Amino acid sequence: MLSTFRMAATISAKWRLSSSTWLNLSQNFNPKFRAQRCHRSFFLPAFAANHSCRRHFPPKPSSFPMAMANFSSAVSARRARLRGVIFDMDGTLTVPVIDFAAMYKSVLGDEDYARIKSLNPSGIDILHIIQSWAPEKQRRAYEVIADFERQGIERLQIMPGAAELCTFLDSKNIRRGLITRNVKEAVDIFHQRFGWTFHPALSREFGSYKPNPAPLLHICSSWDVLPNQVIMVGDSLKDDIGCGKQAGAFTCLLDETGRYNSEHYANTDLEPDFKASTLGEVLHLLKANFELVP
Ligand SMILES: [Mg+2]
Repeated sequence: MLSTFRMAATISAKWRLSSSTWLNLSQNFNPKFRAQRCHRSFFLPAFAANHSCRRHFPPKPSSFPMAMANFSSAVSARRARLRGVIFDMDGTLTVPVIDFAAMYKSVLGDEDYARIKSLNPSGIDILHIIQSWAPEKQRRAYEVIADFERQGIERLQIMPGAAELCTFLDSKNIRRGLITRNVKEAVDIFHQRFGWTFHPALSREFGSYKPNPAPLLHICSSWDVLPNQVIMVGDSLKDDIGCGKQAGAFTCLLDETGRYNSEHYANTDLEPDFKASTLGEVLHLLKANFELVP
């Protein structure tokens, strides 16, 4: 138990977390708490097949309707409680319009882009890379990024299914949050055009950005929920799934085009709990796999 809290304290110090967030985080390393999280394997055939939690799966019903009723209640009892959904913005709640590859090439140059990309199969963390640059070079890089983001704002379109998903979550009183590496101005324009608001909505100005788990843990703390009671939904394996997994949340990768099925991503360690190709599919998997209780 001592090492459990030592591990949580180390992470707490690294990410400069608040005391309540630290408490939540420390529970993530508590063996009893982790045992509860194993229930997610019921919804993940690939994971369950190789996991000891599989033995807890309810037995097949032997007679109908009583056995079926018992089976349903057993499945229901094992569903994880979900109290909030945290979304990425660009490419998740909005149609992807920013050409990130072109942005990275403009910032890094073709040669460095190709080299860094080959070393980072799950994606390039451009904000992290330019942090270590000299001030003038860094300023020029931020200008290039801001230019691409400005073009993205001008062409911003709401993702099909986003309004239906928000309507569904509101009907269940499930909280909606947002984390983006984009700037606050883009979030404000998104809120204006969409008409639905997300709170908290943390942008680059928050200071820590995905895949750092700090923004997600901050939202959990402000909602007074545990990280394993929320799901992070996003279209970036590196940023969104990385952030969610480091925080101890459920994760759902929105992969509209199936790009993450390519062998290019075969060597990454990041594995989302769920995959969906549309926000409509996200709605259905939330319904099917969780107890949506605020
Ligand atoms: Mg995105």
